[in-house]
Amino acid sequence: MANHMPDSEKPTSYLCGYIEAAVQQLNLPESSRDLLTNAYRELRVQIPVRRDSGEMDIFYGYRVQHNGALGPYKGGIRFHPEVVLNEVRDLASAMTWKNALMCLPFGGAKGGVICNPYTLSNREKEALMRGFTSKISLIIGPYRDIPAPDMNTNAQMMAWLMDEYGKKHGYSPAVVTGKPVELGGSLGRKEATGRGAFYLLEDYYKKASRSLNGATVALQGFGNVGYHVAALLENAGAKVVALANHLGGVYCEAGLDIQALKAYEKDNAYQLAGFADSSALTNEALLALNVDCLIPAALGHVIHEKNADAVQARVILECANLPVTPQGEKILEDKGVVILPDVLANAGGVTVSYFEWTQNLQQFQWEAAKVNQELKTKILAAFEKVIHCKETHGLNYRQACYRLAVERVHKASQLRGYTNNLSEQ
Ligand code: NAD
Repeated sequence: MANHMPDSEKPTSYLCGYIEAAVQQLNLPESSRDLLTNAYRELRVQIPVRRDSGEMDIFYGYRVQHNGALGPYKGGIRFHPEVVLNEVRDLASAMTWKNALMCLPFGGAKGGVICNPYTLSNREKEALMRGFTSKISLIIGPYRDIPAPDMNTNAQMMAWLMDEYGKKHGYSPAVVTGKPVELGGSLGRKEATGRGAFYLLEDYYKKASRSLNGATVALQGFGNVGYHVAALLENAGAKVVALANHLGGVYCEAGLDIQALKAYEKDNAYQLAGFADSSALTNEALLALNVDCLIPAALGHVIHEKNADAVQARVILECANLPVTPQGEKILEDKGVVILPDVLANAGGVTVSYFEWTQNLQQFQWEAAKVNQELKTKILAAFEKVIHCKETHGLNYRQACYRLAVERVHKASQLRGYTNNLSEQ
């Protein structure tokens, strides 16, 4: 099977390295590698928005659908000034592997709008989200592609998406997840990514015969994911000694009071510096702290070949997507740092999104306790399979995750007839 994609358009992503390694380990055909590394569809749209000043601004956004062999595409939409197509491709690809690893009936997608959300009023944000939805509505739908929140997007924005899509297609709550509970959102969805990461870390510690009680943690990102994982860790007796957002962070050796810090952030226009009994800290210094666990929960690529050597944490729980580059990972591995990879660590969000989608399709709502229990069961079951694969094949956690996920997507692609079947190989 020849691949006719011109070289100039081939993805340059480092995620391809993880996929290619899994393809080689599994001894899959060349055609499979091409199918699995490239995105199925990439849409770029132009979104004119009238600003509050009366001026028209033109924004641009992307929706990338990476692989749909296992089911409808699924992945969040982020609003950020640094959104670029190559990264959206990576993030869409990461969703394919995350969904496959968690055995969810979804393919992978991601969306991004290039904008600075901190400079947009609420009305401007609504206009931008509605405009983006309208432009991508050709390719989304409850059985086609189901968006969700990501960086700088939230439940309210998913409600606008649902409403805008509904204008053309009728009432369709299952077109998007992460909605407000009043509009069919799932109980427990808001906390789900942080909660899933917490369950994973707790289990990792338990398997190592250690306790989270008293463990020290440094956390980058104090948004939806960072806040919830911090609150759960504090509740389990861990000491979150450092926390930072996009404006910088704070350090307190005795452990920060998470609720009080969140209230302080709200009252001080996102400034954390100046919080009681703490000292100010830069994001770079946070990553280098001597702590038991480091949790990147903001942007990708924050740990790389230039700063990985400074990392002193024993474990990295990747709540953000793609926070460690392969070069950074190599340095960390040589230092014996254990990485619990993003495709597993932050899969709680999409797992509860899956529960939300199924509840919407059935017009039914689960209790919060059931959502949390099902989430725990799914995350820990995936972790067991990853550990088994890691030990059987002598891999690290990330390599084991990719091996399992690539195998599942390859099998589905083969059964659907997207790639050679066994008798043709
Ligand atoms: P969010 O918008 O709610 O919060 C982002 C946080 O990161 C904020 O505290 C912000 O101040 C901080 N931040 C932004 N730029 C920063 C910088 N340069 N340095 C330090 N901090 C910075 O986003 P979120 O939903 O919490 O997502 C965080 C990460 O988790 C992203 O990588 C996202 O892709 C990933 N993720 C989110 C979900 C989800 O369900 N929300 C699911 C899986 C993965």
